[in-house]
Amino acid sequence: MSLVQDTPVDAALSPFGPAVALSCRECGARYDLGAAYSCVECFGPLEVAYAFGTVTREQIEAGPASIWRYQPLLPVAPWAADEPNLAPGLTKLVDARNLAAALGVTGRLWVKDDSGNPTHSFKDRVVAVAQSAARRLGLTTIACASTGNLANAVAAAAARAGQRSVVVIPSNLEAGKTVTTATYGGTLLAVEGSYDDVNRLCSELIGEAITADWGFVNVNLRPYYAEGSKTLGYEVAEQLGWRLPQQVVVPIASGALLTKIDKGFRELVSLGLVEDAPYRVFGAQAAGCSPVAQAFDNGWDAVRPVKPDTIAKSLAIGNPADGPYALDVVRRTGGAIAAVSEEEIVEGIRLLAETEGIFAETAGGVTIATLRRLIADGRIDPTADTVVYNTGDGLKTLDAVAEHVSVTATVRPRLDEALAALVAEGSTTSEGTAS
Ligand SMILES: *Cc1c(COP(=O)(O)O)cnc(C)c1O
Ligand SMILES: [Zn+2]
Repeated sequence: MSLVQDTPVDAALSPFGPAVALSCRECGARYDLGAAYSCVECFGPLEVAYAFGTVTREQIEAGPASIWRYQPLLPVAPWAADEPNLAPGLTKLVDARNLAAALGVTGRLWVKDDSGNPTHSFKDRVVAVAQSAARRLGLTTIACASTGNLANAVAAAAARAGQRSVVVIPSNLEAGKTVTTATYGGTLLAVEGSYDDVNRLCSELIGEAITADWGFVNVNLRPYYAEGSKTLGYEVAEQLGWRLPQQVVVPIASGALLTKIDKGFRELVSLGLVEDAPYRVFGAQAAGCSPVAQAFDNGWDAVRPVKPDTIAKSLAIGNPADGPYALDVVRRTGGAIAAVSEEEIVEGIRLLAETEGIFAETAGGVTIATLRRLIADGRIDPTADTVVYNTGDGLKTLDAVAEHVSVTATVRPRLDEALAALVAEGSTTSEGTAS
């Protein structure tokens, strides 16, 4: 069961590419690659361990225009890209000069805009990797416990692959997430409870006979799923011309995304694909669900669960599985974690939309608002190069902003009324320019 040493596998032939084992993050025990997620010795979480061969920039650059260009760094077969899938990734890295000016950032500021993925959030990345693992493991149904975006990503990926999907969600999710998921098809089970209830229920379901051939992407396939988030580190480094940013701001739900962006950066350094340079990782939470931010503020190593109450539902995990590891990354790199109010979230969404033409979901609002807060508090260096991650699309969370914005005026289709409305508007918005 345990491997003594990693010898590079022939990643061109292996069904899991360069991955060689699952290893316990707590005690280091090693297991064969399978549908497992917690250590039988100590109950610690398992993660994928690799024996990378030689990987070059040229090899990656010659790869597909999707996360599959990083196949030599992922636990997936070399032929995963050719199997039916949504081919997510390679989203835009937007040079955010207007946002920088609005925030008083004098260094460079980029928005990594992952709303450009097939189902409009970064979750398509993690699902693609987990779906590939499910195939290797003979799990024919893909399932998940979701805060919303994962529901979209699993149902759509299954549709594309002609697979069955079973998606379990809290019953109070936004229509933009439930209606879309139901339209992709598959089974959609709504639970009268929180995401944490949904997650626990899915762990219980895994023991039941009917789920024997189901891969719950973020439960029993979690080690593979989480690795998909590394691509958000790789892509930013590649898009910056193969270098690491000096600061990144990342939203935290379970904490996997933040942890894996850091893992991606460290792998690029260890493989010699980027120069080793210090970077700081900052975490963003909503005050209505901020267990990791609270632990950071109080200097705790453990994360105390909370009961979420926030419009940022995609981040509403009260008991985050990777919270302690996210804390480690932030502390090791000299970053910080902040939590922002509901009003700040809405202002964050509006600021990004007004400055860069990017309409983010509530999680993006949390991240932009956190960036603003950290600048105001002097905890982020405004002269350094910074990348802020927008992980989802605002069309899925319209209600969050709907009551804060409105049409300028409503008129009948008559020139005089239109002119009157436009002149009235002009007099209120261009003060000082009219003479
Ligand atoms: C799931 C999600 C996150 C956070 O992911 P974790 O890996 O669980 O921390 C961030 N943003 C959006 C939009 C999400 O859907
Ligand atoms: Zn262990």
